[in-house]
Amino acid sequence: MLFKKVCPRCGRRYPKNFPSCLECGSTLIDIEKEAKKAELKKYLPVLGMILLCGVIIAAVLFVVIPLVQASLATGQEFGTLSKTTGQTPVITYQMNQPAGNGNLQVTVIKTRDGAKSANSKKFFFVTVTLQNLRSDSPSRVASADFTLLDGGGNPYPSLGLGDTVAQEIAPLTAETFDLTYEIPQDAYGLKIQFSFPASTSRSAQSVYFLLP
Ligand SMILES: [Zn+2]
Repeated sequence: MLFKKVCPRCGRRYPKNFPSCLECGSTLIDIEKEAKKAELKKYLPVLGMILLCGVIIAAVLFVVIPLVQASLATGQEFGTLSKTTGQTPVITYQMNQPAGNGNLQVTVIKTRDGAKSANSKKFFFVTVTLQNLRSDSPSRVASADFTLLDGGGNPYPSLGLGDTVAQEIAPLTAETFDLTYEIPQDAYGLKIQFSFPASTSRSAQSVYFLLP
C-alpha cells in the first residue's frame, strides 16, 4: 500500500512521510496503526475477562478454600473466621502477667530446670496458674495447648500438665500446675505459645509468654 496516511478532515491519502494534509493542514492519521489499535480494542474486553477470571480463581484457591478448611477444622463459623483472619499480631505476656480471654485466665508463675536427660537434653518445668472465670461450667485445659518455642523457632510439645495431659478447672477457681518439657540443655530465647481452648470465648486465639 503506497498511501499509508489519510487526512481525517478531507479524506485525502498521502505516503507515510507526510506529517500533515497539504490541502487543509490537518495532522494525518496512520491507517495501519489505527487499524491495529481498532483490532486491539476489539480484544481488550476479552483480555480483561480472562484476567478477571484468573484473579477470581486465585482468590478462591488461596483465600476461600483455606478459610473453609480452617472453618471446618475449628468448627468456627465462616463469617467470624474471615473477619479474624489477617488479625492483630500475637500478644506477648511477661512472667506473672495474666493473659485472659473472658472465660479463662492464664499466668506463668516461674520456670525451673529439671534433671539432665539423654542426648544433651534436660527437663524443664513451667509453672502456670489457670483461673476459670466462668461460674457455670468447668474449663478444660490440655497440655497440648502449651507449646514451648526456642529462639530458633523450634517447637517442643508439653509432656504433661500437672500429672496428666489435661485438667478441668472448676467454676470460679484457680489452680496451679507444672508443665513438663524436654529441651536441649543449651536452649535459649524460650517462650510459650498458648492457644485458648475451643470452649473459651476467643477460641483458637494464641498468646505468647516470654520466659526468663
Ligand atoms: Zn485535508
